[in-house]
Amino acid sequence: MINLKQFEFWFIVGSQDLYGEETLKQVAEHARIMSDEFDKDRAIPGRVVLKPTGKSPDGIRKLFEEANAASNCAGIITWMHTFSPSKMWIGGLSINKKPLLHLHTQFNRDIPWDSIDMDFMNLNQSAHGDREHGYIYARMRLPRKVVAGFWQDGEVRRRIGVWMRAAAARNDGLDSVVLRLGDNMREVAVTEGDKVEAQIKFGWQVNTWGIGDLALSFNKVSGAEAEKTVKEYEASYELAPELRNPGRARTAMIEQAKIEIALRQMLEAEHAGAFTTTFQDLHGLPQLPGLACQRLMEQGYGFGAEGDWKQSMLVRAAKVMASGLPGGVSFMEDYTYHFEPGREAALGAHMLEVCPSIAAGKPRIEVHPLGIGGKADPARIVFDAAPGPAVLATVVDLGDRFRMILNEIDTVEIEESMPKLPVARALWKPRPNMRDAAESWIIAGGAHHSAYASALTAEYFLDWAEMAGIECVLINGYTKPARLREELRWGEAYWSGK
Ligand code: MN
Repeated sequence: MINLKQFEFWFIVGSQDLYGEETLKQVAEHARIMSDEFDKDRAIPGRVVLKPTGKSPDGIRKLFEEANAASNCAGIITWMHTFSPSKMWIGGLSINKKPLLHLHTQFNRDIPWDSIDMDFMNLNQSAHGDREHGYIYARMRLPRKVVAGFWQDGEVRRRIGVWMRAAAARNDGLDSVVLRLGDNMREVAVTEGDKVEAQIKFGWQVNTWGIGDLALSFNKVSGAEAEKTVKEYEASYELAPELRNPGRARTAMIEQAKIEIALRQMLEAEHAGAFTTTFQDLHGLPQLPGLACQRLMEQGYGFGAEGDWKQSMLVRAAKVMASGLPGGVSFMEDYTYHFEPGREAALGAHMLEVCPSIAAGKPRIEVHPLGIGGKADPARIVFDAAPGPAVLATVVDLGDRFRMILNEIDTVEIEESMPKLPVARALWKPRPNMRDAAESWIIAGGAHHSAYASALTAEYFLDWAEMAGIECVLINGYTKPARLREELRWGEAYWSGK
């Protein structure tokens, strides 16, 4: 699990000197109470750190300078308790490099009808102070999230928490590496992309290592080390009967344990948060990494098959956002459709590599031949995904920019056993319905690979895309393909100037 308490969120409350010392003392005191309560709330995953009240251009600029220099500061929350003239904020905001959240709230929930006087009005005026503040964000075209409502309200805290998780994922990405083993699958277009632009936009360093390096470390993993990992398998998953006794199938599982150990050593040595493999380049490895990829995803690493580094990066970002939440995150591929009227659904799976964090019930390790790649039979974890709402997210490179596409889906129970399909799989009904969702995804150029998240909603990805400054297309219960096509055309005008 990724520790989100390592990330600080600076809380900067705005005011000005005009009101006198007594009012400023109260502003600071209220801000302290709020920041302490936020910090303790489990809905708010990061550390909330109160900073001195922003009340002068120099002081405000200094706070943003300090924030930029603090690598563990993952974002800044601003709130105007009183009026705080926004020209004072231009200097600070124009150098800011951190994700921003404009919290529009006030300290008191109710108007004190009997005692309210002009002193109260001067102290509690975020209703117009935050409008002045919102204007400067809009005027400067700054990416940000606006959360409005009473600060003790659960929905306000939940939305702050969503933004924090997205900001933590952004921060995590700024010094992370995608370790590519081999190139993209030959001739495939959608898994390609501009790796330099990816580093500029997301921070990710997308680099390649030879599969031979992994094969070398694989050969060095001792039998005893592998047996230790197999013990973990026995504790966490069911094992198919043929895996319990010595033989070819058990050897296949032990080989995957060795691949898992060798791959993790490489990932740790290179400070990589994500990796890719390709079945077209396995020289020196006995099997396509299946179980090994599933296990590493379960431990929080991003993964993309066939060299798909964009989706690998996205799976890692989703893993950070989902840390500690119920549900899971996995690499996923749209595989095949069920078009029976009234029961339309999409079956998602991959050759092997789906993360057990999304499983319903106890997953099971099995060994079967693979119809592709020409290697030994790989061990893999087999399960059905847990039913419930989930979201699919993908990132494609349109040549001049990255576009993220999201689809809200409802995963359903798989009633049939599919005995001849021994892979992990998910069956879902996309929103608004199969036809409109599929047409919308295709119109937007969405890939066949995606990050599948039952732990997250579209809001997390929308916040993350806003921070990265990339286009984000949401397909949900309200989407109409004809309307979406027009919106994408308007978007061309907006994004081509970026
Ligand atoms: Mn694939």
